[in-house]
Formats: sequence, C-alpha cells, structure tokens
Amino acid sequence: NAPPSVREVWLATLEFADRDYLVYHDEKLTYGETHALTNSVANWLFQQGVKPGDRVAISMRNYPEWMIIYWACCAVGITVVGMNAWWTAEEMAYALEDSDPAILFLDAERLARVRQKPDMVKGTKLVGVRLDDVPEDVIDWKDVIATGGDLPDIAVDPDSDACIFYTSGTTGFPKGAQLTHRGCVSNLFNMLYARASSALAVMYATGEVPPDPAPVPVTLINTPLFHVTANNCAAYAVTAAGGTMVLMYKWEAGEALRLIEKHRVMTVSGVPVMARELINHPDFEKTDTSSLLALGGGGAQVPPDLVLAIEEKVSTARPNTGYGMTETCGIITSVAADFYVDRPDSVGPAMPSYEAKCVDPDGNDVPLGERGELWVRGSSVIKGYINRPDATAESITDGGWLHTGDIAKIDEDGFIYIVDRKKDMVLRGGENIYCAEVEAALYRHNDVAECSVFGIPDERLGEEVGAAIVAKPGKQVSEDTIREHCGAIMAKHKVPRYIWILDEPLPRNASGKFLKRELRDRLSAKV
Ligand code: ATP
Ligand code: MG
Repeated sequence: NAPPSVREVWLATLEFADRDYLVYHDEKLTYGETHALTNSVANWLFQQGVKPGDRVAISMRNYPEWMIIYWACCAVGITVVGMNAWWTAEEMAYALEDSDPAILFLDAERLARVRQKPDMVKGTKLVGVRLDDVPEDVIDWKDVIATGGDLPDIAVDPDSDACIFYTSGTTGFPKGAQLTHRGCVSNLFNMLYARASSALAVMYATGEVPPDPAPVPVTLINTPLFHVTANNCAAYAVTAAGGTMVLMYKWEAGEALRLIEKHRVMTVSGVPVMARELINHPDFEKTDTSSLLALGGGGAQVPPDLVLAIEEKVSTARPNTGYGMTETCGIITSVAADFYVDRPDSVGPAMPSYEAKCVDPDGNDVPLGERGELWVRGSSVIKGYINRPDATAESITDGGWLHTGDIAKIDEDGFIYIVDRKKDMVLRGGENIYCAEVEAALYRHNDVAECSVFGIPDERLGEEVGAAIVAKPGKQVSEDTIREHCGAIMAKHKVPRYIWILDEPLPRNASGKFLKRELRDRLSAKV
C-alpha cells in the first residue's frame, strides 16, 4: 500500500465541513467552504492546461488564499513553489527562473515588483489576489474561484514534489528545497506525535487527564506561510486536527495579544524572539491569555532564560520548541513541558522517524556527549535542491544522511543540544567560540532585550567576538556593565571584544530571524 499523499490529508478534513477553518480579520471560512474553493482552483488549473507534476507559484502575504491554493495544488499533484514575500524584484526574478512555474498567484505588492522587471514572468500566467483594479494582463482570482466542480480524481505519487520551499538564506543565497508528499505527511505524523507526547507529559507531571474529546485547536499563524514552520508544522497540524487557523498579515506582538484573547488561541509558535516580545509587551499583563496551552518556537536558538520565563509568566501554557529546517520538511526534534523545563538548553530527542548522530569533520561518529556536526536520516529529508546537484550532493550523502550544518551534542537519553551553526562559530586564535553560548549569557542580563553575536575579522587572532545589543524599553546598558556581566559567567576569551549598543531593533528576515551577516558586515566596517 502506497503511503498517503498530501491529497489524502486534505480530503480527510471533509469530515470537519461545518467547523471554522481560516480566520483573517473579519473574514471566516469553514472547512466546507474552503473545499469548494480548492476544488474550483484545481479545476481551473486543469482547464489552463496545468498538469500533475507542473509547478505553480504563490507570492503573497499570509492570506487565506495561500492555504486554498496550497491544498488545491497538493490535492491534484501540482507542485507549489513558495515564494518569499520579502524578496525584491531581483530575488523574485531569480526564483522564477529557478523554478519556472506555469502560473503565479500574487497580491498587489508583489505585482508591483513584477512590474519592475517584467521579463521575469515571460511565459507565466498571472493571477491577482485581492487587487483593487485588475490589469488586463492579469487574471482575476474571482474568475478562478467561480469555476466550481468536484475535485479531479487523481492518484498522487507520494515521491513527487508537494512543494518547493526556499531555505531562509541565513547563510547564503536561498536554495529551492524539494519537499515530497511522503516527506510532508511524515512530518505531519511527527507533529501529531509531538503534540500527543507533550499532552502525556503534562498528564504524568500533574496527574490531570487530558479532556476527551480533545478541544478543537486554535492556532495563530504568525510566521510566513512560505516557510516550513508556519506551513508544514503549524498549518498542517491544526488542519489535520480540524482546528482553526488565525492568520496574521505580519508579526506584531500587540496585535498577536489581541488575537489570542479574541479567538481564544491555544498554540503560538514562531522564532524565539516572538515569544520574548509577547511576554515583554506592555499589554501582556492585561491580556487574557488563559486559552494558551503552548508557547514557544524554534527556527533559531532558544536562550534557556526564555524557556524559564515562559514557564513563569504564562501560567496556562507550557514552553516548547522544535528544531528543524526546510531540508526536513519541518521538525527533526521537539520537546515540551517538564522535559523542556528540566533541560532548557536542549531541543529534545529526535522524532520517531529520525536517526541522529554527531560526526567529526571526516564524517566519523564522535563519542556520546561530544560536539560534532549533526547528521540526520529519516523519511522527511528532502529529495534535494532544484537545479543544484552540487549543493544536494554536499548536504545529503549516499546513505541518506542529511548534513544539517549545525554543531550539536547528544546526551545519554538521546536529547539533542544545538551548540551553533557551523558557519557561525567564531574561530579566535584556534579556539572555537559558539555565538549561541555567548548570546545565552547576554540574555541572562536583565536589561538586554535582543542580542546577536558574530565574528569580527582580526589580524592577530583570525577573529574576535563582536556583539550587537538592544536594551529593554526604558533601560540602559553600557559596554562596561555588559563586559562585567559576561566576565562573571564565562571564560575571558568568550567575552565580546567589540560591543555595540543599538537603539533600534536588530534587523530580521521574513521568518523573524536576526540578519546576523548583515549586522556583522555593517558593524565590522566600523572596526
Ligand atoms: P540557509 O540554509 O538558507 O542559510 P536557514 O538555515 O536559516 O537558512 P531554515 O531551514 O529556515 O533556513 O532554518 C534551519 C536552521 O535554523 C537550522 O539549521 C538551525 O541552524 C536553526 N534552528 C532551527 N530550529 C532551531 C532550534 N530550535 N534551536 C536552534 N537552532 C534552530
Ligand atoms: Mg540552512
């Protein structure tokens, strides 16, 4: 029996027809209404001559239309290309050339970028979503959804590409990762396993039996749907459970708090800085967050102090994290509740479908507990990167092992600790310094709101440690107090040599991760 494809995941939600599914401002769609729309989109694509195996791109913000197009394509074997909405015209042109979609669904802002470089859409049909005026060369979304009909009956190959998502581009230019149906479904199973095991962990710790039937989940979608965190983890998990997705156009902590109260949101994920902004927000104390069951996130290092702060400040919610990457269609590990509070520096054990090991630069296993590059193998590792056989061969070896590019260690219980990205380590006079460790130490200072640590080229030592720091509103920090704080808790060579106190939030990418390379380049120019 072939394992199910994403088509089956979507079809299974027909059982929730009357439940609310997509919520965006005052708009609401039930599962039944959404199915009618996805059927229309699939039929329209076939009428246009798009076939299973062809590609269709989405370039827009977190609108309900994103999910409608996504499920419509997956349900009939058409591959979705997730375009980063933050891309400039130039970057959009690169990705369109790279992925060559037959159709591009886009909103007004992205259409304006296409106009800057009209050649990028040669041979691609445009469909405008939420446009006030629809230009002649653009097809109106309203016409697409007027198509009607039942979902075409197609057998979808589990090893075909469900979608192509670009990596965040934290360490270089984004690469188009091929996420197969098998990979996406397998990641969904890992997500459901993670949720079930964290509910059990709460039960063991408190003796409270989870309610039966389980409450229908309400999830805030506060990160962009063109990355696996929102799409393959949050959205898949809530959809498979027949829950409600509350979509945010873009992240803003005050707005997130209002939505949590209004819609009784139960789970919020995202990058760690978002959870920190929520609990530090001036409105936090006066907002009713009692519906929250889980707050946390992943996608970047979670400083241990944040895990403990969530546990302390949000009485109903337990902190959680997941470690994963575009190349694994979502999570490799996950951890929640007491297990996490006991080991706030760990990202948890590998999910059941994964094997994990740490290796030295020659690819040999390092002894248990020692640091090495983390390699993982399992059913949701991507097929490769499109048009990049070199990059594919570099990151996935013959045995199916994915080289994560992260330095980690694994303890005797199988808990994984991410030490740093290989490319982010500071090499100071032959000594490896892990930025994440220095960042965690900085966050232990009460007045530090944000920080990022990186290497600054140095003639004598190769690299020196540099840190950019933003103080909490109304607080002040100085180079001296920071140095003193660090000196008291870490070896001298790890204490930042260069410290910049900035008055504005650190620059971020679309997922909310700090743009470390940009910061480093900007600040090292001042040295
Ligand atoms: P690029 O590969 O293009 O440089 P990227 O690695 O940031 O960008 P993603 O696939 O979005 O692109 O992110 C995956 C990376 O994020 C992981 O390799 C890891 O470095 C980091 N990461 C994810 N989750 C966690 C976590 N819970 N703790 C620490 N780091 C994490
Ligand atoms: Mg990466």
